[in-house]
Formats: sequence, structure tokens, C-alpha cells
Amino acid sequence: MIIDCHGHYTTSPRQHEAWRTDQIAAHGEGRAAPQRPAITDDEIRASIVNGQLKLQQERGTDLTIFSPRAAGMGHHLGDAGTSEAWATACNELIHRVCTLFPRNFVGVCMLPQSAGVSPRNCIAELERCVLQYGFVGCNLNPDPSGGFWKDPPLGDRYWYPLYEKMVELDVPAMIHVSAACNPAFHTTGSHYLNGDTAGFMQCMTSDLFKQFPTLKFIIPHGGGAVPYHWGRFRGIAQDMKLPPLTEHVLRNVFFDTCVYHLPGQELLAKVIPARNILFASEMLGAVRGIDPESGHHFDDTKRYIEQLPFTAADKTKVYEDNAREVYGRLSAQLAKQFAAAPA
Ligand SMILES: [Zn+2]
Repeated sequence: MIIDCHGHYTTSPRQHEAWRTDQIAAHGEGRAAPQRPAITDDEIRASIVNGQLKLQQERGTDLTIFSPRAAGMGHHLGDAGTSEAWATACNELIHRVCTLFPRNFVGVCMLPQSAGVSPRNCIAELERCVLQYGFVGCNLNPDPSGGFWKDPPLGDRYWYPLYEKMVELDVPAMIHVSAACNPAFHTTGSHYLNGDTAGFMQCMTSDLFKQFPTLKFIIPHGGGAVPYHWGRFRGIAQDMKLPPLTEHVLRNVFFDTCVYHLPGQELLAKVIPARNILFASEMLGAVRGIDPESGHHFDDTKRYIEQLPFTAADKTKVYEDNAREVYGRLSAQLAKQFAAAPA
């Protein structure tokens, strides 16, 4: 089975995003948010059949771990109330996709975060999504201010209530920022990769995984700058008298394969142990074009994996086994969804 651990609902029906625009406008004007729009199953089906499902079939992948559009989370907009209503709406849509296509999608939730608001605020929604919807993880935004980094680093006790719930539920978090509202940062070009790199460093310079030995994070986009600068991180860890990174972070931190060229994938696979790499493409996401040098879509990452010198066992880890291990509820959830699926 080929499991893509990083996909967002970037093709959601238009009225869903339109409601968000209205909701934020209403908040700005001190009005109540409008009623949520009706979205039919047929509209959801159409948005998936011609989008993510089509690409799964064309590219030969089986399952996408699916979450709301990351740039759309917009935790810097509105307040805790708007974030909660928006997260509820987005997660409900993901649940509907997973119910309509139980063999192809398993859910991951966005959290109702807001800059400066305790992550304790996110626990009820996480619990609801995992226990009622069967979601297997969450996306955790290390910078809900959208590029101004106003909240404490991920190793701070500030985040502990959420981590306690994650550990209790056995769900990992993908460390994933949302849109940048700081014009110094391009959302997907710099803010995302900065978020990945900063998130890793925040874990490395804290005793987080001593406090939470079973907490698991996926650092997306190939780990940002981390694998490329692995020597720098190892050297800093050594200067700080930290244990080797394999012990200090690699029991808890995993990297996905959303790196959009072969040399980058080769480096990732050379530097990071196969047990820490999870296959992912983030389709349809940040980069949708065709690479004129290869003639294939930049985000068709399976093509790169196929060219790496992995042993058969390592390739199975990257495609499937690691995902089942990191997302501790995945295998049971898949069994449930497959049993409910039409033959
Ligand atoms: Zn993403």
C-alpha cells in the first residue's frame, strides 16, 4: 500500500471558502457570522473525483492522509471564536470526504488555534475529530500569528496540555504553518520552509521528548532546511552538549518527502534514516506545474522515490510501514473504513 501522509483539501467547494471570507468580514464589522452554506455530497464528490482521487489513480498511490487546506487555516485572522467555527467547518468537510471515499482518504484535523490563546483551547476539537470522526492526527501551527512568531516555541510548557492529549489519544502532529501575513515571507516558498526548520530547532533545543517520550511530530516539506544542513544541526547539538540527534530527536521526529526534485530526495534519503521518512506529495498543493526538465509534475514525488537506492524493505517503510507506526490509530481506522466501504 502506498500512503501519502500529506494532502490538503485544496479543491473544496467554492461556497466553503466564500463563507470564510464572509465570516471574517462579519467579525471585522462586529456582526454575527452568516449561516454556514449547504454543501451536497455530489459537490464534494466532484471536487475529489476530478482532483486528488484522479491524481492518486494516475500516480499509483492508494491512500492520502487528508487535512484542511493549510494556507486557509488562517490562525492570525479573527479570534478564538472564529477559529473554532472555521476549524469545525473544515474538519467536518474532511470527515465527509473520508466517509464518501473510505478507501482513499483518512482524516487529519486542523486545530482552532489563535495567536496568544492557550493551545488548551484545541483539545476539545482534537478529541472530537479523533473519537467521533476517526481522524488519526492533527496539523499543529507553530506560529499562529502568521509570520510574526508571537507564541512560545514548541518546547515550551505552553503547549503541554495539547501534547498530553495527543499522547493520550496516540495521534501525531504535522508541524505545519498557515499563510504568512508578514510581507517579508512568501507563504509556501519561505514561511512553510522556515516553519519546518524552526519547528525542528525548537524541538532540538528543548527537553520535550524527555517529557513526552511517545510524542510524535512529522516535519513536512522534507524537513525544510534540516536534512540539507544536518551537519550544522549535529554540530550545534554537540556544542550544546546534547545527545546525538538520532537519540535526541529522531525517535520522535519524522520527515515527509514533499521535496520537488530528485537531487533533494536523494539527499533526504542519504541523510535521514529510512525509518524516519514518510512518503508524501502534498498534492494538489503549493506547486502544481510540470517540470520542463523532467516532463512530469513537480509534486509527483513517487517518481523520485522510485529512483532512490532504497532496499525493498526500506521502500516499504517509506511508503507504508512508517505511516502506520507514526499514526498509531491508522491501521485500526483503515480496517474500519474498509469494512464500511462498498465492495
Ligand atoms: Zn501542507
